[in-house]
Amino acid sequence: RRGGSGEVRRYQAGLDDDVRHQARLAIDLRSAASGNQLELYYQPQNCTSTRSLVGFEALVRWHHPTLGMVSPGEFIPVAERTGLIAEIGEYVLRRACADAAAWPGGYKVAVNVAAYQLTRIDLPTLVDEVLKETGLAPERLEIELTESGLIADHARALATITRLKALGVSIAMDDFGTGYSSLALLQHFPFDKIKIDRSFITDVANRPRAAAIVRAALLIAESMNIPVLAEGVENEEEFAYLRDAGCPAVQGFLFGRPMPLSSVQTLMLREQLRAASADGAAGGTD
Ligand code: C2E
Ligand code: MG
Ligand code: MG
Ligand code: MG
Repeated sequence: RRGGSGEVRRYQAGLDDDVRHQARLAIDLRSAASGNQLELYYQPQNCTSTRSLVGFEALVRWHHPTLGMVSPGEFIPVAERTGLIAEIGEYVLRRACADAAAWPGGYKVAVNVAAYQLTRIDLPTLVDEVLKETGLAPERLEIELTESGLIADHARALATITRLKALGVSIAMDDFGTGYSSLALLQHFPFDKIKIDRSFITDVANRPRAAAIVRAALLIAESMNIPVLAEGVENEEEFAYLRDAGCPAVQGFLFGRPMPLSSVQTLMLREQLRAASADGAAGGTD
């Protein structure tokens, strides 16, 4: 801006482009919301001590007819502003539960739920209906919530969470540590899991301040008897740090990127072989 009108104009043009882009996404999202341009990817979640697979987080992908793949970080906020998230969220929930119901081995599936779904629709009734329809055991479904979903309407959110838990579904707090009130939320809502945000995990072994926060979060969670999962674990160094600090579960590129359903099946097969050969090795030492 300091550089005079030229830069101001460029800045202005950037803004206009952005507004235009958002408006376009909002319009195009209407045809995507019905489901035929949406696909669920799944990212593995692993136990730290055994490295074994425990479940997957469902992450929605939008195959835009001309823009290609649009990331959820870009279109979910647009969907929330327009209310289309209700339709998209219902599709995601149905698809994830139907997919997981067909998985062997009882792997869990975690589904992200937006503020709008938590406070503006009857989510527990929808979840109950979808579980019955798909035959997925409630214990295998985890709902991930972020701060924005919880502070919008505190009382309504608490009532919704209580009803979801009564169904047997578990509730995870997503992106822990990034909001303005992570600790207050932890005090007020009965979470079954805490997911420490990736921003604290990146290079944690070499960042004393991030490491201190991770250790404090682990200590608090342990005192509350709530399991923790570290998000965004990309390498063995981060993994070793978290394992040694006592973090029970991890998710991140180290164990797998979000992948289409067909790759999930391959991964589960590989996991069965790994478990079988581990059993074999253990048997051999008897
Ligand atoms: P999130 O729920 O915190 O999901 C984790 C995000 O981190 C995913 O991005 C995932 O691809 C990315 N990630 C995982 N491991 C690593 C890693 O090791 N390194 C790096 N650099 N990134 C990693 P994605 O899929 O782009 O999703 C972004 C956000 O969009 C999600 O954050 C979630 O808030 C939202 N989202 C995704 N799917 C849905 C959905 O179906 N419904 C709603 N309401 N939100 C969704
Ligand atoms: Mg999530
Ligand atoms: Mg997260
Ligand atoms: Mg996030």
